[in-house]
This record gives sequence, structure tokens and C-alpha cells, in this order.
Amino acid sequence: MQQKNQVALAQHAQGSPSVEELLQEMTLLEKLGQMRQHPHGIGPLSDAERDIREGRCGSILNAATLEERNRLQRIAVEETRLGVPLIFGRDVIHGLRTIFPIPLGQAASFDAELVERVAAASAREAAELGIDWTFAPMVDIARDPRWGRVAESFGEDPHLAGRLGRAAVFGYQGRQASARAPGKLAACAKHFAGYGAAEAGKDYNSTWIPEPLLRDVYLEPFRACVEAGVWSLMTAFSDLNGIPATGNEFLLRGILKGEWRFGGVVLSDWGSTHELIEHGLCANPSEAAATALAAGLDMEMATRSFIEELPRLVQEGRVSLSWVDDAVRRILALKYKVGLFERPYADVPKTSVMLCRAHLELARQSACESIVLLKNEQRHLPLKPGLSSLAVVGPLADDAKSQLGCWSYDGDESAVITPLMELRARLGSNVSIRHAAGVPSCRSDDETGFEEAVLAVRSSEVALVFVGEDAGLSGECRNRAFIGLPGAQSKLIDALAATGTPLVLVFMAGRPLTIGEECQRAQAVLFAWHPGTMGGPALVDLLTGVASPSARLPISFPRTVGQIPIYHSSKNSGRPPKSAFKGIPTGTPLDPVGFECGYLDVESTPEFPFGYGLSYAEFRYGTLLATPARAAVGESVFVEVDVENVGKSAAQDVVQLYVRDLTGSLTRPLRELKAFERLGLGPGERRRLRFELGTEALAFCRRDLTRGVEPGKFEVYVGADCRAELRAQFELVAPA
Ligand code: BGC
Repeated sequence: MQQKNQVALAQHAQGSPSVEELLQEMTLLEKLGQMRQHPHGIGPLSDAERDIREGRCGSILNAATLEERNRLQRIAVEETRLGVPLIFGRDVIHGLRTIFPIPLGQAASFDAELVERVAAASAREAAELGIDWTFAPMVDIARDPRWGRVAESFGEDPHLAGRLGRAAVFGYQGRQASARAPGKLAACAKHFAGYGAAEAGKDYNSTWIPEPLLRDVYLEPFRACVEAGVWSLMTAFSDLNGIPATGNEFLLRGILKGEWRFGGVVLSDWGSTHELIEHGLCANPSEAAATALAAGLDMEMATRSFIEELPRLVQEGRVSLSWVDDAVRRILALKYKVGLFERPYADVPKTSVMLCRAHLELARQSACESIVLLKNEQRHLPLKPGLSSLAVVGPLADDAKSQLGCWSYDGDESAVITPLMELRARLGSNVSIRHAAGVPSCRSDDETGFEEAVLAVRSSEVALVFVGEDAGLSGECRNRAFIGLPGAQSKLIDALAATGTPLVLVFMAGRPLTIGEECQRAQAVLFAWHPGTMGGPALVDLLTGVASPSARLPISFPRTVGQIPIYHSSKNSGRPPKSAFKGIPTGTPLDPVGFECGYLDVESTPEFPFGYGLSYAEFRYGTLLATPARAAVGESVFVEVDVENVGKSAAQDVVQLYVRDLTGSLTRPLRELKAFERLGLGPGERRRLRFELGTEALAFCRRDLTRGVEPGKFEVYVGADCRAELRAQFELVAPA
């Protein structure tokens, strides 16, 4: 057996033809074993080991340690008939030991290069533990802040999510890599597709997404990841237009493997094959297995429908063996790419990169670029150098765990630097710092600590108030119907505001919150998401002016839950709101109303729009130029603008370009983000930016459901958020 394995290994290491050779040698059960991913720690270990030994398991999810990984691998390589190595996956979502900002926070950086570096650092730490495969990036478009997984997303916009998703794939796998390099991982774009559209923001809920919206919005970031060369995709738990994604042939075989020619592995989500029964698509495990295989699923996570049901179904000719072979080919090819045939075992590294200086510095930069300045009345920030007393209040001033956010199980809490720790270290010798949490935790209604907090604030020149959501309020299935500040935190802010001491609110949260009223009580507001290990130093850099805020909202902040869904690329409607918002008429029930698309009791606009974020500097934009003014379909239009820093400090701006296609065979969004650029400018410095709008940028899913550009007039807007007023026009004409 040992000798046979060595021969097999030597052959397999020679490249892709051996995938075929190996496939030829495999029994049906061995093939189906490759299509099963077993979650480590679920069920008796002896059963898992037996399954591996019998070739009934091809992948392990969440192996506890490097030693455990290698032990299981040894069973696969040395004790099975063909010695096919296992592939080990784990959710490395925003770092491993070093935790970076949650993905929604990273999205606020509008910095693809930074997102790539963060993914690369996460991969380096994960590879050290023998992890081969991460289930990231999540590129689900999220337009409902009630949904707990909005935290794991890159926000509401397909262009932004596509660019950042692509960058993350490059970071984990390497750029267009055909084989794994040291310190890299296989990436997995998830959850294909439409998962973020879960009705009412309830995780796992059904979605209804018409095809043009599906293609233009929900699929776009996945297409970007496939183009970037991602090696795997994970299906969504959710039902898409009546067919759950894991059994959705239109999505998997049709679009993904057909139209996009995706050659990698399609993995189910945890138990989502079996859940085809709960969804009501299939009557039993046998139907579930047949449906998922026919739809194009290659590997089943956690449940056993494939391994238990497919042997009989294949033998009876009820499912095609060619589908099984196609799936196994993909899985073996992934294992070759990951290098598992040549190097099945992971080595204990000589030197560790876990929490190394470079990673911590990157975590600090990433946090710094992700924290959004929402308000800065009379330039209260940065804090004045002569400050002598400071109150530090709120449940999140010193909460290491919450600072890490969701999916940080591997994160090292002891390495976290909280804002309180950093403020004490950096300002403590000159500034008297009075700390009082005010409430014991974010969710607590206990007001007994208010008095102490009020005293601390009353006797200080400025109060920094750290409030928001603890880490357990966002992430999988952490949905909320009310997205205001939980517990007694709003009341705490009221009490602190009554002292008259200027308040700087710092929110940490996994989602947009409805915080209009709280923001009114404060002079300045920063929104820090869950900023990760180095959140404290990054916040103090911004609070003290060592760095200027440069992040922008990757998702609209509603004024109230009743406005959801609210996103910048909505349609105009036949009756867009024109008159100023008046509020509910107080007269008779028959008072006239403006017959416009809006509400009686709240404005139509969000509290903070997509792309919004302030800076300590001030940027001025020159005249916008779009040339040529008339271009033929297929030609590019170039958009140019001068950007100048007219402020007093060096800072980075995120220049955003939006397009409106005025008419189309289907109505078009009011504004769509088509390009953005982050640029650093010193005081008085000016730069000319040039964006190219090619055919691809202006293409959309047309009335006949083909993708392409239509002739007609376009408006282009450039500015600092989605309300950008600087405007130019161009026209696309049919080619001569
Ligand atoms: C989540 C996935 C995750 C998987 C494995 C599921 O519950 O939906 O995003 O990758 O678990 O941990």
C-alpha cells in the first residue's frame, strides 16, 4: 500500500493529466468521498477517522490545530488506497490572530490595494496553521442593515464589492495564481447568490430577485471574483426565486459554470444540501442529493446526502456519473493547485508571523482608513493639543472582544489595544483621563453607572463616548429589527449631553445604526465599525490628528428602519420627491399631500448617504470634463477633474464617479458608482484625475436579458459622495 501511494503521489505531482489517471483509478465511493467536507469536532472523532481511512471524506472543515491537521492528513495519505490528500478549510474572514476591521469596515476604506494586503497577511497567518482554504471573501451585496451578516459584506454597491472582492482574492491566492505559493490560501467567494437580499433582513430567508437586478447587482461581484481567478465558490443558504441556491441549476450550471466558464469547485454552505428538504424543494435526502448534483454542486459541507445517497442513485442511473466525474476533477485539480500532492503536511514554521509588527501596523492602517468621520461641528476634532482633561466613557472604550467583531474566533484578545489603553499610553502624562463605562455593557439597561459617568464628563473639557454594538450583535443570524443603540446607551448620551461638555461619539458596530438623534447631541462623531486588534491606536491617531479621517460609507445609513431598503442606486420613479419635506400634516385628515414618492413622516433621504465621510482637510474639485461628448458604442469616454486640497493638513480623499444612463430599454438607476480613486494630497496640492469609462463599465442587463450598452445620453457626476453635484454629459451613438 505504502509503495503504491508513493507511486501515485509521484505521478500525481506531475500535473493535470494525472487528475484523469487518478479519476480512472477511483471507485464510485472514493469519488463521492472527495465530494464530502466533514466538520471537525462534529460527531465522534473515531467515525471521522474511519471515514477518511475508507476514502469517504475529501476535506475537513475547522481542524483544531496544525498537529491535528497533519495527523488526519497522514491517515488520508498513508492509509487510504490511493493516498489522495485532504484539503483543510476554515473561515479566515478578517484576519486570523491579527484581526483587521470587519469586511464592512474595510469596505469603508475604498482601498482595494489595502484590502489585498490585509487578505495577504491573513493568508500568511492562516497558512502557518496548516489551513489551505479560506471561506472568504463574502461578496454578497447587502442593502438591509437589519441582516446580521451585513458586517461580513463589502456593503451595498456592486462596483465597490467587485473591486474589493477581486482584491481579496488576489490577496489570499496571489494575483491570477495557477498554483499556491508559500503563505497563500485558496479563496472562496460566497454565498452564491443573492443571500444578502434575504427578505426583512432575516438570515436564511427567501429572496426574490428579478434577473436584471440579479445580474447587474447581486452577481457582479462574483463575476469579478471569477475573473480574478478565484478557485472556489460557496452556494447560499437562501431560496432564489423559488429555487434554493444549492439546488439552483440556472445559477450553478447555467451562469457560473456555463456562461462564466468557472473551472473551480462549488461548495455548499453548512448543510445547505440537506436543507433543500426544509425549503420544500425536495422530499428526502435522496432527492436533495440528486437535485444539488444536477444543479452543479461539487462538494457538500457538513451533511452527508452525497456520500449516502449518490451511490445508489448513480448505480440506478438516476443521476449521471459524468456529473460526479466533473465534480471530482474540479476537486482534485484544486488539491493540485494548492500543492497538496507535493506537500500534504504543513510544517511548523521556524519563525512565526502571527501578530508580527508588520501585521499589526497593517491592522492599524486598515482601521485608520476604515473609520468614518460623520460629523465635526466647529472642528471639534482633532482634539486640541493643549487639552488638559478628558473623559472616556461608554461600554466600548475598553472592550477587547467587541472591538474584534464577528468571526474572530482565532483572534488573540490579549493583543487588542483598546481606545482607553491607547489614550492612557499616549496622552496620560499630560492629560487627566477620567474613565467611567456608564453602563456595564452595550445591551444592559442598568443605569446605576450614569452618575459616575456624568461626574467624569462634567469635570472634563471633552468627553469621548464609545458606544454601539458588542460583537455578538452582528454576524451569522444576528439580525435585528431595531437598529438603534441597544440597552441604555442612548439615555446615557442624553445624560452626558446635559452636562454641556462637548461630546465626541465613537460608534463601534457591525452594521449601520439609526443614530440621527444621538448624533445631534454630539459635536463630533466617528463610526469605527468593529475595528480589530489595532482599533485603539487607529482611533487615537484620528482623534489627535496624527491622521485625517478618509473613510467613506460603503452602505447608506437610514434615518429609521421604516426606510429600508434604502440605497443610492435606486430608480427615479415616475414621481420623484421634489418638494421639501414637510412632515405629517397636523390639520384635517384631508389636507393635501404632494403626490410624490416618499413618506409623510420621514424624509426620503438617508441619515448619511453612501460614499459619505468627512476629512480634517477640505477638497475642492475643478471643472468636470467628459470627452468625447459623443462617442460610438464600443469606444471609451474619458472623465477628467482636478482635485485640490485647500485645507491645512495633508489628507486622503476618495474621489467617486457616478453615472446615470438617462433612458434605457429598462429603466436605469439614478446613480451608479462606476469608479473611485483614493488619493493623498498635501495642503495646497492639486492633482488631475482621469477615469476611463469603457463599454464594460456602462453595460447592463437589458430588456432582452443580454448584457451590453445602449446608445443614448448619460450624465456623469464626480464628488465626495453619492450626492456629487459636479456634472458632465456625454452621448453614446450607434457605431457607424
Ligand atoms: C456560513 C458560512 C461559513 C460556513 C463554515 C456557515 O454557517 O454561512 O459563511 O463559511 O458556515 O463555517
